[in-house]
This record gives sequence, C-alpha cells and structure tokens, in this order.
Amino acid sequence: MSRSALAYPPSRPPAAPPTRRGRPAAPTPVPRPQPEPAGRGRRAARLLREAVVETAWPTRCAVCDEPGAVLCDRCADALAVIDRWDACPRCGAPWGRVQCSECNPVMLAASGREALPYAEGAAAVILDEAARAVVVTYKDRGERRLASVMAARMAACAPPAWVAPETLVTFVPASGAARRRRGFDHGEELACAVAGLLGLACAPLLRRPRAADQRRLSRAGRAANMAGSLAALPGATAPGAVIVVDDVATTGATLCAAAEALAAAGAGPVYALTFARA
Ligand SMILES: [Zn+2]
Ligand SMILES: [Zn+2]
Repeated sequence: MSRSALAYPPSRPPAAPPTRRGRPAAPTPVPRPQPEPAGRGRRAARLLREAVVETAWPTRCAVCDEPGAVLCDRCADALAVIDRWDACPRCGAPWGRVQCSECNPVMLAASGREALPYAEGAAAVILDEAARAVVVTYKDRGERRLASVMAARMAACAPPAWVAPETLVTFVPASGAARRRRGFDHGEELACAVAGLLGLACAPLLRRPRAADQRRLSRAGRAANMAGSLAALPGATAPGAVIVVDDVATTGATLCAAAEALAAAGAGPVYALTFARA
C-alpha cells in the first residue's frame, strides 16, 4: 500500500453549521452552496456566506454553550488534563504510574488477555462531562472544527519517542452506519490533524469486516465484540511504528483490536493515542 500521506486537512465538504446544545437534533436547513463568481468576488461571496451562517447559527462553546468559539478559553483551561508523569506508562491510565488499575493482570484477564497488544498508550484528558461534551459535539453534532482543537491536545501528549520519520498515524475507522449517519469519519479527521501537527504521514490501515457498536456493552462484552472486528486493509504495510488514533478509550477493547490487526500486518510498535480516557 502506498505510504503517501492523506491530504490534510482532508478534502471534505465544509463543516455543517453547529447546532445549539440542548436543542433537539432536528435537521436544520443548510444554505445550498451557490456557484462562486470568479476573481475577487469569490472571496467576498465566501465571507458573506460565512457571515450569514455565523449570524443564523453562531459558533458556541461545546461545553458551556456561550457564543464565540467552538471551545472557549475558560472551558479549554478547565479540561481535566492527564499528567503523563502521573499516568500509567503502558496504557496511559490517569494516576496509574505506580500501580495501574487498568492494565494489571487481573483486569487484562477479565478481557481475556495476558498483555496489552499495544506498546504504549496516551490520552490527553480524562473523560469527564466536559470532555464528553466536546466529543459528542464533534462527532454527533457535526462541529468538525473541534477536530483541530482535540488534535492539538493529543499531539501535545504524544511522547516524543513515538515520533520517528517512519512512524505512520492511522485511525480506527467508523462503522459504515456511523459514517453515513455523521457524514464523515471522525477518527480519520482526528488522525490526519494529529499527523499534520506531528509532521507524520497519515494513512488508512484498518477496516471493519463487520459492524460493531460498542456503546451498550460491558467490558467483557466489548472485548468479545471487538475480537477480530478490525483487520488490516488488504496490502497494508507499515514499515515502522504506528500511532493508532481514536477519540475515546473506555475499556480499551477497540484499541486492543486495532493493535492486534496492525501487528498482524507487520507494524512495528503500535502506540494508542486518544483524546479522552475513562
Ligand atoms: Zn465554554
Ligand atoms: Zn496501565
């Protein structure tokens, strides 16, 4: 498979107007894109269109709903950042540096594992109510501008040892149903943004042989559901390390399945990077 980097930012249609939090997710009318006039008028037309959209659907903070930015400074500062010096160096669990309650033998055995299939994991923030609001606003309410905000946090918490010229960034692909529902692959956009910030190439390496919705399953159920549910794309190769990106890690079952599929495709060390972690 070609190592060529995916275009960043990905060539996608422009972000849908953000919806107001707390309102029913009823479809809102989106102005139809009009053919753009040539020359200087094109920029003016774009600015006017953006002004109309901003007036009709003002940008609001994903957490506090105040108008102004997709994540206001106050809410950004209040996110529960995971200090890597307190976190587990193996799985990235907050407060797990001395004794990890997540990747110890008992917890791994509960998931049917003897060891983590990825070399190291890291996450930017703890999955509290605010972080959950950011994730939901990003991927389920279509505020795609949050991808760059989340990616900046993720790139900052990726250990420097992960970054080498051969390192590829990839993502856990959304299920076909989720992608159709959202109109974009949230993991792909995050991964491409992270790769751009780290100066690495982003490449799709994984596929979903069967759809699997993890949201209502227990820890053991998630592990069983994810086992074999991700596979390497045919012909995918990774000459070095791979950083696999996802938005949230809860039990880690998805990241484990991704790491196993990547290892089967010959990837070097696999690192797991998420925005939030339960
Ligand atoms: Zn806010
Ligand atoms: Zn751990």
